[in-house]
Amino acid sequence: MTTARTLIVSHDDVVRLLPMAACIDLMGETLGALTRGEGLLPLRTVLRLPGQRNMFATMPAVLGPSIGAKVITVFPDNEGTPYESHIGVVLYFESTNGRLLAIIDASSVTAIRTAAVSGLATRWLARPDARTLGILGSGVQAMTHLEAMCAVRDFSTIRVWSRHHPNALAFAERAAATLGRTVEVVPRAEDAVRGADVVCTTTGAREPVVRGEWLAPGAHLNAVGASVATARELDSEAVRRARLYVDRRESVMAEAGDFLIPREEGVVDNTHIVGELGELVLGRVPGRRSADEVTIFKSLGLAVEDVASARFIYERAEALGTGTWVALGGLR
Ligand code: NDP
Repeated sequence: MTTARTLIVSHDDVVRLLPMAACIDLMGETLGALTRGEGLLPLRTVLRLPGQRNMFATMPAVLGPSIGAKVITVFPDNEGTPYESHIGVVLYFESTNGRLLAIIDASSVTAIRTAAVSGLATRWLARPDARTLGILGSGVQAMTHLEAMCAVRDFSTIRVWSRHHPNALAFAERAAATLGRTVEVVPRAEDAVRGADVVCTTTGAREPVVRGEWLAPGAHLNAVGASVATARELDSEAVRRARLYVDRRESVMAEAGDFLIPREEGVVDNTHIVGELGELVLGRVPGRRSADEVTIFKSLGLAVEDVASARFIYERAEALGTGTWVALGGLR
């Protein structure tokens, strides 16, 4: 009998079905495929809610035979409430009959795939002997970034800074309990960045929290938190000092204050971008050239990352019999 069933996948199932190490490899395949021209990826649509910082975003993409879209609210104002800042679903369709195969929790997909892309960048760009990690921020992305960084490098020292010190302390407790990692809480962003071989910025800051003069020779930095043209986590000197890699040039030109503000100041121009991560993975642009150069990966987050994650989750859920099936409609 012909059926039109759709799989609903919860947060906890996503965490089980999309392990970090597998997601890092998946993101390498996905960004390589995007660079080879195997995807359709318009810029996301972001509606800023009147009089608020909060946003509603739709992020569609086609990747090979997969069609999908992430539909999310991005509510920085959820700070201090029980709710995450990114809430919504990833919709996953097939391209033979256009059936909706899955509706998947987007908070967990976003948390994992974003950190996995930073993990990929770190695998390719950080020094192989990187031992000290500095994380700025102590929220959802900070935790998945800790996991991703530890999947690609062997860190002996991990430091975290957060705007509110108690949140950094709670982060260190969670890191010990859930990942078995010892994290040192430091009082200033500078203390987390100075001497670090790898730095991840995962804050909601709109003004720089990292100064270029703090970055150690040979450091690699993943800049994750700012994803609109008017906000940035890095000062212009940090960007000037570094060889800059991005997830996608087109998105950077529209959404990345970390690049657009220094460009506006005349500190860098478009040639400062060495390449996209997909180009790096395919060997089309060079990676790190010496042990003392500074590299930055600017992450904005791409819908193809969500669609690829959705396909992976759907196929594993179907194979394992996980999730809940519903008949939404779609049959004649
Ligand atoms: P959370 O709300 O879980 O955490 C936010 C963190 O940012 C907290 O540690 C908070 O510190 C810190 N923070 C907020 N405002 C400031 C500020 N003005 N200065 C310094 N620190 C600040 O959010 P997420 O972890 O989910 O997301 C973190 C950032 O990453 C967000 O900006 C989000 O939009 C972005 N993001 C980017 C993605 C990408 O693909 N590149 C994907 C998903 C998210 P404290 O708690 O101590 O106040």
